[in-house]
Amino acid sequence: MANVSIRELAIDFGTVSVLKSLNIEIQSGEFIVLLGPSGCGKSTLLNAIAGLTDISSGQIWIGDRNVTWEEPKDRGIGMVFQSYALYPTMTVEGNLSFGLRIAGMDKDEIAKRVDRAVQILQIDPLRKRRPGELSGGQRQRVAIGRALVRDVDVFLFDEPLSNLDAKLRTELRVELKRLHAGLGSTMIYVTHDQIEALTLADRIAVMSGGVIQQFAAPKEIYRRPVNRFVAGFVGSPS
Ligand code: ADP
Ligand code: MG
Repeated sequence: MANVSIRELAIDFGTVSVLKSLNIEIQSGEFIVLLGPSGCGKSTLLNAIAGLTDISSGQIWIGDRNVTWEEPKDRGIGMVFQSYALYPTMTVEGNLSFGLRIAGMDKDEIAKRVDRAVQILQIDPLRKRRPGELSGGQRQRVAIGRALVRDVDVFLFDEPLSNLDAKLRTELRVELKRLHAGLGSTMIYVTHDQIEALTLADRIAVMSGGVIQQFAAPKEIYRRPVNRFVAGFVGSPS
C-alpha cells in the first residue's frame, strides 16, 4: 500500500480545461471515492494517476516516488474498468496469469498468486471458463483478480459496478469492502452513484467541473456540505 499525492494537476483537452489545478492527499490504505456527475473529470483524474492520459501541468506521487512521467506498468497500480477488458479467448486462469507471464515471472510464483486470487474472489470453480461463459459479476471479479495477482499498492476502479443489476451491485459492494479490509491497499473508486460513495468510502471527494468541491468523510459531507452543489448532489438532510 502507498499514499497518493496529486499536486496542482491540470489537464486540458485542446482549449477545454478538464482538471483545474487539482490537489488531493490520499493516505495509505484509504478507500477514496471520487463522486460527481457525468463529465466532471473523474475518469480523467483516474487515468492521470494510472498514466493513461497526458497531463498539462502538476505532479503525481505514489508513496515516495514522483511517478508523473513513469510508464503505467511501473507505477504499482492496478486498474479495473466498467467494461471488464478481459481477453475473450483465454480462460479465467489465463486472464489472471497473462500479465505475470509477460513480465517473466517464475511459474510457481504465478501459480501461487493465481490460487490466492481465485480463493479471495471466490472464483476457484470458474478457472477453466472463458469470459463468454461468465456472468457480469463473475467477469468483474476476474477483472479485479488481474489487479490482485500483480500485488499492486493502489487499486483504481472506474465505475466497476455500473453494468451490473442492483442486487449484484450491492453484493459486490460488500465484497469490495471485505477485499479492502483484508488487503489494506489504497483504493480509489470512481462513481456517479451517491449510495455507492456513502457506503464504500473512508473519504469522498465530490467533484464538479474539474474541481474538487469537498473532500471529507461521508458523514461530514452528508451533514455539512460546503456549498449548494454538494448539498444538492449528495442529498443532505434538511
Ligand atoms: P467523467 O468520468 O466524470 O464522466 P471524464 O473525465 O470522462 O468525466 O471527462 C471530463 C470531460 O473531458 C468531459 O467533458 C469529456 O467530454 C472531456 N474529455 C474526456 N476525454 C477527452 C479526450 N480524450 N479528448 C477531449 N475531451 C475529453
Ligand atoms: Mg467516467
